[in-house]
Amino acid sequence: MTQRQITEPARETPVIHETDVLVVGSGPGGLAAAIAAARCGVQVTLLERFGCFGGNITVVGVEGFAWYRHEATVEAGGIGWEFEKRAKEMGAAVPESQSLSYELDSEGFKLVADKLVEEAGIHPMLHRQFVAPIMEVNKIAGVIVESKAGREAIIAKRIVDATGDADVAHRAGAPTIKTPVEQMQAASVMFHVAGVDKAAFMAGVRADPQTYKDWSTGEWQVESDGKSDDMFSPFLAKPFERAIKDGIIPARLNTIGGTWGAVHDSGEMTYMNLVHLAGCDGTDPDSMTTFEIEGRKQAMHAIEALRSYTPGCDGIRLRNFGMSIGIRDTRKIDAAYNMTENGVRNEARFDDSIGIYPEFIDGYGILIIPTTGRYMQIPYSSLLPKNIENLIIAGRAIGGDQIAHAATRNMACCAVTGQGAGVAAAKSIQQNCSFYDVNISSVQETLRAQGVRLD
Ligand SMILES: Cc1cc2nc3c(=O)[nH]c(=O)nc-3n(C[C@H](O)[C@H](O)[C@H](O)COP(=O)(O)OP(=O)(O)OC[C@H]3O[C@@H](n4cnc5c(N)ncnc54)[C@H](O)[C@@H]3O)c2cc1C
Repeated sequence: MTQRQITEPARETPVIHETDVLVVGSGPGGLAAAIAAARCGVQVTLLERFGCFGGNITVVGVEGFAWYRHEATVEAGGIGWEFEKRAKEMGAAVPESQSLSYELDSEGFKLVADKLVEEAGIHPMLHRQFVAPIMEVNKIAGVIVESKAGREAIIAKRIVDATGDADVAHRAGAPTIKTPVEQMQAASVMFHVAGVDKAAFMAGVRADPQTYKDWSTGEWQVESDGKSDDMFSPFLAKPFERAIKDGIIPARLNTIGGTWGAVHDSGEMTYMNLVHLAGCDGTDPDSMTTFEIEGRKQAMHAIEALRSYTPGCDGIRLRNFGMSIGIRDTRKIDAAYNMTENGVRNEARFDDSIGIYPEFIDGYGILIIPTTGRYMQIPYSSLLPKNIENLIIAGRAIGGDQIAHAATRNMACCAVTGQGAGVAAAKSIQQNCSFYDVNISSVQETLRAQGVRLD
């Protein structure tokens, strides 16, 4: 049956703002893009649909920014490192349990992001959602937003799509590739708990330490390269297996399991990444509604199991859910160059490198921890959509196959692509040329000056 349609009347839409660079979406990709562009001396506006900047860090509660980092890990540095450093300085990060990194405080990072935006002189626009591009044939000239103020237009010389889902590129008509729903990485409803007896919990962890090898259990089989199998992982599966066996939680919930983040002296345990919802389509609000509600139910089952079987957790209660379900995988652009599994597994090198990322692959049943100095370069061309001018992508929607995405989706890598996109946006204005024609050497020189390692 064909879907019923209505015709909307044509309307006048007020132009409320004009800017050089408009960044749509403020996760690790968008925030880094906005800061990097502003440091090049152009006017920058950062647009975000929610009431805080930070994307998955603040909206979903994803706190493990660089949990892969070990002594030999080689990284890009740049604005991603600044996120950790500033969070630490502002009391919004604690040492991470399995690595040489800092776990970001998802609430505190809201203040860190505000400060970074303010210091860089970026024009902040929260509470407005991008809904449509303003097109001049194949050139994007601005965006239409919707908010409590109604429908409004923003004009920009260059636009960075950092929505995570390639919303702008997709609606502008650039080719995008959406992972088939049955293959999408699971979505998660994240939560934080209060009331943990930290000493008892940590004694339990020491008495029965879990490793990355333990990730392969029941429903999950995870491929590794063997070298990190026996390393400590803050992993929880046994309480849920026991709870199913004892009939405390339903047998169908054999997908509950995963990692805890930080345990604080105050008894809070944050970044509980335990609920995995296969089949959730992050571009379909009906699917997200179903799984958001289901995920909250599953989180409460997980808490029940922790209370029953995990030392130090008998008195825990829910502190909060993330503001939104966490989506890992939707659309990616079909870029001028799409990164490949071979590239991320074999230290890819590119003349148009905009930064490096360690050999860290996490997703699609693969876990490679970068305990050696191996790393890949990220090519500028993987940020470039086809067919649309004045548009560049930052963050998890850059071009690449599924296994490449399991590397590039990670937040520190999103910050690398964001910084590259932001500098390129500024340069293409200053050089009065398209993203495709921008002088890549000048982009690389500026990125180096901004503290990014490119090779
Ligand atoms: C549950 C979960 C756990 C994860 N764990 C880790 C981890 O431990 N370590 C790690 O490195 N990575 C992890 N990831 C992956 C990582 O969080 C994401 O891949 C990364 O945050 C993507 O960054 P981004 O900037 O591309 O997009 P996002 O962080 O998704 O930010 C996109 C921003 O754009 C905004 N936006 C979207 N659409 C619009 C619109 N139409 N108009 C206006 N604003 C819009 C959103 O509100 C959001 O703020 C996890 C992901 C999930 C879901």
